[in-house]
Amino acid sequence: MKLLEQIFEIAKKEPDLIVLAEREQKFTYRQLFAAVSHISEQINERNLNQRPILIFGKNDFITLAAMLATNLTGHAYIPVDAHTPFERTEMIKSAAKPAAVLTTVELSADFEALFTDRISLELTDQILTDKLPALDFSKAVSGNDSNYIIYTSGTTGVPKGVEVSHDNIVTFTNWMNNDFMKIENNQILSQALYSFDLSIFSLYPSLTTGGTLISLSRDETTNFKLLFERLNKTVINTWISTPSFVDICLLDPSFTEKEHPQLVQFIFCGEELTKKTAEKLLTAFPSATIYNTYGPTEATGAISSVKITKELLTENDRVPIGFAKPGVDLKIMDKEIIIVGDSVAKGYFENPEKTEQAFFTVDGKPAYHTGDAGSISADGMLRYQGRIDFQVKFNGFRIELQDIEANIQNLKEIEKAVVLPKTNDQHKVTALIAYLETEKTFEDRAAERAFTKELKAELSKTIMDYMMPTKFVYLKKFPLNQNGKVDRKALAQKERGDN
Ligand code: AMP
Repeated sequence: MKLLEQIFEIAKKEPDLIVLAEREQKFTYRQLFAAVSHISEQINERNLNQRPILIFGKNDFITLAAMLATNLTGHAYIPVDAHTPFERTEMIKSAAKPAAVLTTVELSADFEALFTDRISLELTDQILTDKLPALDFSKAVSGNDSNYIIYTSGTTGVPKGVEVSHDNIVTFTNWMNNDFMKIENNQILSQALYSFDLSIFSLYPSLTTGGTLISLSRDETTNFKLLFERLNKTVINTWISTPSFVDICLLDPSFTEKEHPQLVQFIFCGEELTKKTAEKLLTAFPSATIYNTYGPTEATGAISSVKITKELLTENDRVPIGFAKPGVDLKIMDKEIIIVGDSVAKGYFENPEKTEQAFFTVDGKPAYHTGDAGSISADGMLRYQGRIDFQVKFNGFRIELQDIEANIQNLKEIEKAVVLPKTNDQHKVTALIAYLETEKTFEDRAAERAFTKELKAELSKTIMDYMMPTKFVYLKKFPLNQNGKVDRKALAQKERGDN
């Protein structure tokens, strides 16, 4: 059965169940499919080619409905968050050449000009009708058809689109629904942006089991006061986030089992779960079941998991990343973790060169070079030991340092750029330092700060806000090592300045 049909079955059986709760408004499964039907009619009217559809929006009901409607009409969707800078959005649009663009937010003039032929969606009464429509699933994506394409940081400074199939999502969803705690009317935190693959941990498992997505807006995730207020008046059973996000929530003294007795399951992915965070969480929620899971967007959500216990933390210096999910084989080749099996995505959308570098086959099965260093013990437990390249996780966000470097190097007066992470004793990146080679001289620190401000303003047009370096250090010449390459170790010693 197609994933969408599976979700529709829930809507037929229990149409009044709440599918998604925003701060101000709740929506039922019936309303979801009314909206899906309405939006799919608008897509069908256009007689589009079969290319994917770009969806520019936020994390909310209407954007979710747009994603499902896109799949119903046989198209893959490309979720692009409405906070993506203009020039980066332009790069994604020109790489993807979408059949159409759906927008679910108000647009500024430059975005209006970029999306001239868009289908603009709003929550109207027509969309929110309370009638469960009859739907035709014959054109809906299935099998190896692409379900979505998520654009992620690329080493050349241009994002690359990970193309994930309908069957990739099905194997992931089945695993989540079977191997983790089963909860009736599960209230699942939906915090990750739809443009990140962590969002699928919430979306598909919830939709296929009649759960409710507790949807946090960007306002709430970026404003601690609003966040703590919302959490304190909302029932959540299953928590899904990066460890960085739960670290913020743990700052609120009321984020405890006593205040949140219904919060019984935590699932983490996306970056290293540090021992410190795991210990704090076990203290705050001693009876909850906590999972660490691991996987890249290129292998659809996650491919391994492990339950976190006090014993596991005592026995390990770093929190292990778990045992492979069914359908996946893990291998270590030259210290690198290789993922083999049905979770491996189709590749990078219309980018054969990058696809060939990272995707290959092992015994006829799809395989992916993760770029993660790791080891597997005899019992099958996978352990993460850092990256073998220049990709980092900063505040839970995936960043290729070369992406930032390439975009800085495009700016005037900058010869070369190297961005280096600063890490703490828990292996967590705490800052990104940009070293810039430039002829420019500064009269005083105020002049340097003013230049940095201009640079940041320019840079923010092409990189996501979470990629912005914490500090900029200017040098006349980069130190070189014996091979004549930029000496990164020596650079790291040169950190100074306070901009
Ligand atoms: P993303 O594609 O954004 O999910 O990022 C994938 C990368 O995040 C992986 O290749 C790892 O480097 C890192 N990652 C994901 N989960 C974990 C984990 N549980 N522990 C350590 N690193 C992780």
